[in-house]
Amino acid sequence: TDPPQASTIAIPPAARPGDPLAAVDTPSLILDLDAFEDNLRTMQVLAERHGVALRPHAKAHKCPEIAIRQVALGASGICCQKVSEAVPFVAAGVRDILISNEVIGVPKLALLARLARQAHMSVCVDNVRAVEALSSMMVEYEASVRVLVEIDVGQKRCGVQTPDEAISLARLVQKLPNITFVGLQAYHGGVQHKRSLDQRQKAAEKTVRAIRGYLDAFARAGIECPIVSGGGTGTAAFDVASQVYTEIQAGSYAFMDTDYAGIDWGNALSFRHSLFLLGTVMSTPTPDRAVVDLGLKSTSAESGAPQVADRHDLRCVAVHDEHCILLADNRRSRPEVGMQLRLIPGHCDPTFNLHDCIVAVRGQHVEALWPISARGLSR
Ligand code: PLP
Ligand code: MN
Repeated sequence: TDPPQASTIAIPPAARPGDPLAAVDTPSLILDLDAFEDNLRTMQVLAERHGVALRPHAKAHKCPEIAIRQVALGASGICCQKVSEAVPFVAAGVRDILISNEVIGVPKLALLARLARQAHMSVCVDNVRAVEALSSMMVEYEASVRVLVEIDVGQKRCGVQTPDEAISLARLVQKLPNITFVGLQAYHGGVQHKRSLDQRQKAAEKTVRAIRGYLDAFARAGIECPIVSGGGTGTAAFDVASQVYTEIQAGSYAFMDTDYAGIDWGNALSFRHSLFLLGTVMSTPTPDRAVVDLGLKSTSAESGAPQVADRHDLRCVAVHDEHCILLADNRRSRPEVGMQLRLIPGHCDPTFNLHDCIVAVRGQHVEALWPISARGLSR
């Protein structure tokens, strides 16, 4: 007899609102809403106390539902790292986006111009030709963007190398149509994860001194520089008090991965883990080994293997494509097949990029599923 006719089977969602956590299919990316909301408030309050704007980096989460909540709490807008990444945020109603990056090439500039007709867009520059191309594309689309000159304050990534270069680029921006010079992009990623609080503070101060050098040169040249944008989770407490940054771009603070949890926070700030990978123990081949059903396709591992939440007696010793290998300190610690475990990812940004949606959880129940709409949008 013939086999029954094939028909497409719809894969059910990992969870539905109202489900108990125990019913969530795995692997899933879980957001603990209570911890998440605390984190959002902590950073917003910190920024407001110092009169500094918070423009959270959305590359951390790529999720419009999260950005909308950050803006509702008082964020001045968001950052995106890529032009295409900004598209779902604009579609969701976010009206002020800084592309904290250089945008090069016709397809990207054209997309930026189209976005700029719907939202206030800003972009970074560090090159004369790029400024000219930006201006002419904006003219072509009858759009306009604000421009930050990126300065290299020690990260050795992008950015002009001297105040003279920054000033001549700013003057070019002022001269050309449909682009407006608004200030400086001054981000130093290398400082963010320095382990010791003291070393991080010193490095942040060094960054601030570099920025002051630029600001003094701009003042001497008579060029107003209303915005200085930069900073991240690791240096936020220093950045807001620096008297130099007018807005900070922290992203990871909302989630706290193990990488950030591993740095010394002193009593400066406290963020809670809100982001977890939910996995199921699928095999227990030996008395001390448990294998969980999530691997590199569900979690980043370049910043270390994920850590089992609240279980210091379980260590993740290997991450394969679709498996995590856990070793238990002793037989009593080893979880049984079928048990669910929460793992904390090493690095939030690339982990979000592996998932279609976030399972937002309140206590022990699913509250909502939020699409990670900018997932994969890296053009
Ligand atoms: N700003 C820029 C330009 C970045 O590249 C990053 C992260 O890499 C951030 C801000 C946010 O940093 P964090 O997630 O460490 O807060
Ligand atoms: Mn990161």
